[in-house]
Amino acid sequence: MLPPARARWHRWAGRLPPSRSPSRTRTWSADAGTAIAARDGGCVIPGCSVPAAWCEVHHVIEHASGGPTHTDNGVTLCWYHHRTIDTAGWAVTMRDGTPYVRAPRWVDSRGTWRQTGNPRVRKRRHDAMRT
Ligand SMILES: [Zn+2]
Repeated sequence: MLPPARARWHRWAGRLPPSRSPSRTRTWSADAGTAIAARDGGCVIPGCSVPAAWCEVHHVIEHASGGPTHTDNGVTLCWYHHRTIDTAGWAVTMRDGTPYVRAPRWVDSRGTWRQTGNPRVRKRRHDAMRT
């Protein structure tokens, strides 16, 4: 457990605190879910406005394929996008602990990866990196 001041710094800087070793279970802990929800702010699919409290945590790399149950491998998706992420053409990846989303070809023919997540957290992270 992080000391409260260190946890506040991580929240301010938009970074998730380093966690202990990834869980071997598929189930997300309440702490991991809370941290991911704070980072993402809701469903990470652009244009979807479902708030984090109504979202589920999705393994970016499937647990069955060896993806860890770790904050760096989880994003929040609403029920609908969680059920259709593998069939609707959306793709999610993590880069340095930040979620990126690529829209289906019928939405973005260039297949651009776009940073997603809570815009306030992204701004704090950007500002923290500039100082
Ligand atoms: Zn959604």
